[in-house]
Amino acid sequence: MRRQLTHEVQNLIDRGRDRQLRLAVTGLSRAGKTAFLTSLVNQLRHAGIDARLDLLKSARDERLLGAQRVSQPDLGIPRFPYDEAMTSLGSTPPRWPEPTRGISELRLQLRYKTRRVRGLLGDTATLTLDLIDYPGEWLLDLPLLEHDFLSWSAAQLASMGPERRQYAETWQKSVAEHSADETVDESRLAELAERYAVSLRQAREAGFSHLQPGRFLLPGDLQGAPVLQFFPLPGVGESDRQRLESLPASSLYQTLKTRFRFYQQHVVKPFYRDYFRRFDRQIVLVDVLGALNAGPERFEDLSRALATLMRSFDYGKRSLLNRLFSPRIDRLAIAATKADHVTPDQHANLVTLLESLLADPIKDLRYADVPVRAFSLASIRATEPREVDNDGKRQPALRGHGLDGEPLLVYPGDVPAKLPEPTFWQRQGFAFTGFRPPPSTAAALPHIRMDAAMEWLIGDKLR
Ligand code: GDP
Repeated sequence: MRRQLTHEVQNLIDRGRDRQLRLAVTGLSRAGKTAFLTSLVNQLRHAGIDARLDLLKSARDERLLGAQRVSQPDLGIPRFPYDEAMTSLGSTPPRWPEPTRGISELRLQLRYKTRRVRGLLGDTATLTLDLIDYPGEWLLDLPLLEHDFLSWSAAQLASMGPERRQYAETWQKSVAEHSADETVDESRLAELAERYAVSLRQAREAGFSHLQPGRFLLPGDLQGAPVLQFFPLPGVGESDRQRLESLPASSLYQTLKTRFRFYQQHVVKPFYRDYFRRFDRQIVLVDVLGALNAGPERFEDLSRALATLMRSFDYGKRSLLNRLFSPRIDRLAIAATKADHVTPDQHANLVTLLESLLADPIKDLRYADVPVRAFSLASIRATEPREVDNDGKRQPALRGHGLDGEPLLVYPGDVPAKLPEPTFWQRQGFAFTGFRPPPSTAAALPHIRMDAAMEWLIGDKLR
């Protein structure tokens, strides 16, 4: 009786409160953010009708009644292009949605029945769910706040491996024509900065992830602004500090330094202060399979990029983040996307591989008492699991259509259960080809374990 009463009181309190949750989705480019958010909205819109959400408890209990879009609170942020994404998926042939390139937002109102004791359904309640999508590249800029221009320059140049350096060659040759103390005009500076940005974009195209500054790759609304016109200065180091600091404001060194500071103060900090700090929950998406496909140097690079990115969730008391912004995310999910690229027997390995890729950040999060869980999922499942006969033995396979529409029946390869050894790369070939999205129907989008991720991220708010 007493327990029942407490339960009812809690229900009342919850309903009285304006129930709201801000859930942010991030990941590096092509990690699958746009597909994930599209599917998430689609599953919630189809909840209680035809969405398959058995792992989401409120849906399994038939308490989740549905979701409606309502106007978003932040009028300054672009709306997440859900309708456009659904139009792409619904076209003939179906196309993957255009990826989002900056921050965007969408507000849903979920209606559900509260749970009462002994399985009885309670009253109808609503949860306002704000979904925010932003580029993971922006999080790569957090460590930049620890540096001043000189130490940042040195760190950037030192971190380039031999292959990565190739992409920086043209830029580096052009900068070598100038010295730190000379006066450089605006247009030349813009040209050099553009060359640096091109080198970052080329490295990105070639599969590198650990690239800074993040806004150079995804400028959002800052495209072409002078705040994005700086670059690290080669050939100078700590021993030159005194001389450099005494240079006039018009010198190349001082100009770059001023712009770097402006970028720190007016681009990196405001993102953390105005947006990041207000997120309640977060899912970080990782294209582990894409990195496996791209080989050892890119895989290593992804690992470094993720370690940097995850520092934005390091809540340790002395962490840079805490000192500056005291954020309040109370739950985190990390997910290996595009699980439909491998056969279901490999999904468990995909999760353990993701966990070993993020082992240190996960340890830090657990230590800071932020609950974190790893998943493998497919936001929009483009393949069907099959079995084929291989010399009398049954082997799992995938059936789907390639990006040009050709029918495929493939076994894409084994996923290692932990970080691959050097010998692994020599031994094993990966062939995770791209698949066309599934043919569209009026029903909810097919997925793998979206419901498990949803249960972790919003399930407790739908009791
Ligand atoms: P974003 O840059 O993080 O927004 O990434 P997108 O959501 O645009 O995804 C990049 C690409 O990955 C898409 O164009 C698809 O080719 C592929 N992709 C994303 N999610 C899935 C998925 O669930 N299954 C499959 N097969 N491919 C996916």
